[in-house]
Parts: sequence; C-alpha cells; structure tokens
Amino acid sequence: MRLVVAERAARAARRGHPWVFRDALRPASRELPDSAGLPSGTVVELHDERGRFVARALYDADTPIGARLFTLAPDEPLDDALLVQRLARAFAHRDGLFADDLTDAYRLCHGEGDRLPGLVLDRYAELAVLRLDGGLWRPHTDRLRHLLVPLLRARGIEHLVLRAPGERQVLTHREPPDTLEVREHGVRFEVDVARGQKTGAFLDQRENRARVRALARGLGRVCNLFSYTGGFSLAAALGGAGEVVSVDVAGPAHEAARRAFALNDLDPGRHAFVTADAFAWLEAARARGERFDLVVCDPPSFAPSERAVPKALAAYRRLHAAALGVLAPGGTLCAASCSSHVRLEDFLGTLDDAVLPGRGLSVREVWGQPADHPTLAAWPEGRYLKFVVLA
Ligand code: SAH
Repeated sequence: MRLVVAERAARAARRGHPWVFRDALRPASRELPDSAGLPSGTVVELHDERGRFVARALYDADTPIGARLFTLAPDEPLDDALLVQRLARAFAHRDGLFADDLTDAYRLCHGEGDRLPGLVLDRYAELAVLRLDGGLWRPHTDRLRHLLVPLLRARGIEHLVLRAPGERQVLTHREPPDTLEVREHGVRFEVDVARGQKTGAFLDQRENRARVRALARGLGRVCNLFSYTGGFSLAAALGGAGEVVSVDVAGPAHEAARRAFALNDLDPGRHAFVTADAFAWLEAARARGERFDLVVCDPPSFAPSERAVPKALAAYRRLHAAALGVLAPGGTLCAASCSSHVRLEDFLGTLDDAVLPGRGLSVREVWGQPADHPTLAAWPEGRYLKFVVLA
C-alpha cells in the first residue's frame, strides 16, 4: 500500500524523525481506498509529492501518529529479518552496558531509539515485559513472540509478558511471578511487574539514582518527594545519609520502599515514610522549620500534552519554590521532569533565580536518559527525561 506524505513530513522523515502524523498522509491515487480504511499494522510505502520513495512504515489507525517508520532504504523489506537484526543490535548494546553483572533490570529495547518504533521491552531478571505503543503491532503480536522468545531464552530470560493499559498477557508457557527481585548497580529491590508503574519500575532514573547515592555521602537529612517505591530514598540512604524522609500520596508504595531498605540491610525504622500530598507537606515542613541537605523532586508528568505545558511549568515553579523552603543553607536540589513536552530550557526556567531567589544556586549537573534509553538526533520528543542538580 502506497501513501503520499506532505513535504514537511517527508523532510523530517529523511532526517530520521520516526513518525508521520495522519494529517500529513493521503492515499497515492484517488482509486485507492482512503488511508483511514487501512487496518493498523499494514506495511505502507511512503512517497513524497513528487513520487520519490521516503520510507517503509507500519500504519497505525489507532493514534494521531499515522505511520511509524522503519527504513529509508527503498530496497529494504520490513520483514522478520529486519526485526531480528534490530532486536539483536539492541540486545548487544545492553550486553555491553551491563557486562559487570551488577544490574539485571534495564530496557532491552527502547522503541524508536532502537529503530523499532513503538516496541518497548524491559528486562527484570528472568522476566521481560513487552509494551507495544499504538495499534501498529497488534496484528504482529504472535510474530513478535516467535522472534523474541528464543532471543530472550539465549539470555536466560524465561518469561515474556505483554502489558497494555488495563491488560496483561503471558506470552510464554509458564505462569510468571508477579513480583521479583532485581539488582541495579548491586542495589537490590523488588519489582511488581503486574501492577507497578510503567512496566514495573522507573528504569530510566537508574544513573540519576546512582548520582544521588554519590551526592548523599556524609549528609545529614535527605528528602525525597514523590518517592514511589523509594528508589532515590534507597540511593540516598546507601550513600550514607543519616535520615531520609520519603513523601508520596500512595501509602502502599511506602511498603515496597520499606522492604527495599530491609533487602539492602538498612533499617527502615531509622527513616520516615510520609503519606501526604507533596505540596501540602512541603508547606507544613517549612513552617515547622524542617531543613534538608538534599532534596530530590521527581514528580509525575505534569504535561500530558503540548497544550498543558504552560500549566505544567507553573506547577514546576510552585513545586521548586516550595522545595527551596525546606532546603538547608548550602543544600543540594535535584529536580526532575519526565514530560517530553517540557523542553530542557523551559524546565531550567522553573529553577532560575526568580523561582529560587537569594541562594545563589548554580546548575551543577544536567542529566537525562541513560544509555539503555537511546534517542534519535532528529526526534526531540524522545528526550523526555531531565534531571538537574543545583547547589
Ligand atoms: N521518583 C519515583 C517515581 C515517581 S512516580 C522513582 O524514582 O521511582 C510519581 C509518584 O508521585 C507516584 O508514586 C505518585 O503516587 C506520586 N504522587 C503523585 N501526585 C503526588 C502528590 N501530589 N504528592 C505526593 N506524591 C504524589
């Protein structure tokens, strides 16, 4: 099936942008059915207005992203060989990253960043979780299972589970465990792959947790806002912080955090796990005179869409100003944003001297996604994670 791509979208595609939105697509001839009638998962050939080949893609009838692109080479078919070659390349990259054998929870395939649009595969020890974005992969699930299972088995990964919103499907034979223990730079924690956020854990913050561990050395008090299952809290405690206060509205997440402390031979009783709204808690803590040497702030995405960005930036400003209220003199603030719609420069605008006055804070470090979450040069939407260290 041939579709024509509008000129601007064709230029972006040729630079390596992996998406074409549906409003930039039209059928190649009037006799052909409207592209809207195509089922998700159809292989389509995209041509520009002058009839030149642009890319081979999978069509998606389910989302505004009408086509996700796989190859710009006119003679490269979108077949099993291509999928296997891309998967093998993605896996080999991780084999190199985690050769020290201290980490067995990581992203094996990061969709677009690994040139397999919409296909996310996370490893949690002997189990892998597959997340397929949009509708393009739906007719190909069985085929993917056939390709993936032997590749995973070769790496000692026994179970493959497909997770979609509100749905979970076991793709291998035996019933897998719901929770399992994994290691990240040697730190042990438990992951709930059936109910946990994302595919089970926030793997993308791994190296930032390692930074917090280093920054916490010798510190007195650390506060971790939006702590979830306590990844940053654990890092700070293992780094040597005297007391870590974790704040999250979700009480059950604190139970997982306490278990993680115990798994790593830390006494959770020496630390505080507060179930509260972070904004309200910050206000009350400031008023009580509580101060922290390190504050970590990693909220959920405030901007689900481009339109929500101004409101999100206002929320970040309020949050960062409130966090400053509990930051001890000479303290360090780590501020994260996981929204792809919020650009780094705009996020830094919520950490400037107008928001954080009177402290003379400098931006000491700016981090993003780790190497197992690769992005594409021509795809700024893929660089969603920002992690800024100020002191
Ligand atoms: N920092 C975590 C991930 C944060 S996920 C990590 O590294 O694993 C976002 C968390 O924010 C969720 O656990 C959610 O329960 C919590 N949350 C959402 N809104 C909140 C609020 N207003 N106050 C406190 N916690 C909140």
